[in-house]
Amino acid sequence: MRFVLASNNEGKKSEMLRIIRPLIPEMEIVTAREAGFGSVDPEETGVTFAENAEIKARAFMELTGMPAIADDSGLCVDALGGAPGVHTARYAGDHDFDFGIRKLLDELKDVPMEQRGACFVSAICCVWPDGRILTAEGRCDGYIGLERGGSGGFGFDPVFYMPGDRCFGDIPGDEKDSISHRGNALRLFAEKLRDFGM
Ligand code: IMP
Repeated sequence: MRFVLASNNEGKKSEMLRIIRPLIPEMEIVTAREAGFGSVDPEETGVTFAENAEIKARAFMELTGMPAIADDSGLCVDALGGAPGVHTARYAGDHDFDFGIRKLLDELKDVPMEQRGACFVSAICCVWPDGRILTAEGRCDGYIGLERGGSGGFGFDPVFYMPGDRCFGDIPGDEKDSISHRGNALRLFAEKLRDFGM
């Protein structure tokens, strides 16, 4: 069965494909453009990652008539009371990641190392045209560095460090996938999909 990838975020799309293709080889997954469609950008009105992932998956399923798989993710910073959380994409000024990183480092400029804990969260949701829904969530704990530690990856990768002081912006993609929120969510999703009989 063909699935459509419900995302307009290039960094996220390439990560999802990189993780899903070897993990669920029987799943043929294409972008909306590859399937011959345009795109949709639904308003993310949910209050949880899972709700927003379902909104995106449903919009792409309705656009294409194909089962659609979406990721909604974000960064939760302890010293900011869990913000920006579900608002992470907007925190970065409509995906202006450079601006978002400068804003975050500035907000945390007086926060000492031991209080800079943060986690990334990813909710994966697949919605089928017949109404079935499957959701899985993953997280990755780490901290926000005092400065950029690399320029790779996307979004907040250049300032997110995992235990061992390795920066997401400075590690190979497969190393990130092996511990990332998205990797964890998609591995759980793959397990649930098998239990689902797919
Ligand atoms: P959304 O899921 O499209 O609402 O956007 C999530 C936002 O969270 C992205 O635009 C990034 O700023 C951030 N984000 C999510 N996952 C990652 C990641 O793996 N690395 C860096 N930033 C991420």
